[in-house]
Amino acid sequence: MSSERGRLIVISGPTASGKSTLWRRLVALPGVRFSVSATTRSPRPGEVDGRDYHFLDDREFDRRLAAGEFLEHAEVHGRRYGTLRAEVERALAAGEDLVLEIDVQGAEQLRGCGLPMVSIFVAPPSEEVLRERLRGRGTESEEEMKRRLAIVRREMDRAGEYDHVVVNDDFERMLAEVLDLLGLEEKA
Ligand code: 5GP
Repeated sequence: MSSERGRLIVISGPTASGKSTLWRRLVALPGVRFSVSATTRSPRPGEVDGRDYHFLDDREFDRRLAAGEFLEHAEVHGRRYGTLRAEVERALAAGEDLVLEIDVQGAEQLRGCGLPMVSIFVAPPSEEVLRERLRGRGTESEEEMKRRLAIVRREMDRAGEYDHVVVNDDFERMLAEVLDLLGLEEKA
């Protein structure tokens, strides 16, 4: 177990990189919580308000923004997302690690905020593998694939801004690497 609890663990990475599987395993550990962001996008099937996101309309997002309730916020794929200060304050006060799954713009804003933070960029082993994974999902048209791959390239260009870049060549190996660099263990 780590001796320095109460950090922000920021995880970013392109779509289909495996970052969601990673953060799910991390927040299953004792003393590690997930930061529930606010967003203006609609819930997907199975998503629960307050658990997966705080789903807000544009007006409510603006109101909270004006009230200074966001620690960072960004527009991603035409929708707005933000980390609520209250989430962060609650976790840090309780000495818990808080996992934030946010995009590169959000990570950049947090770097200047002076809070204890470790940032991790999850990279796919290659563009070819990523293309295969996207194809495997079978939900993307060729046009959509092209658009997404262009976004991935732009995100990959910013991987160097993170404290650590981990490559998802093998998920369990990558998880072990992340646990090690965070000083965490899966079994107590
Ligand atoms: P999705 O809509 O698929 O859940 O998330 C889309 C993107 O929004 C992901 O890249 C995710 O990292 C990013 N995102 C989710 N929550 C936040 C947040 O609070 N702040 C920022 N900056 N990005 C977020």
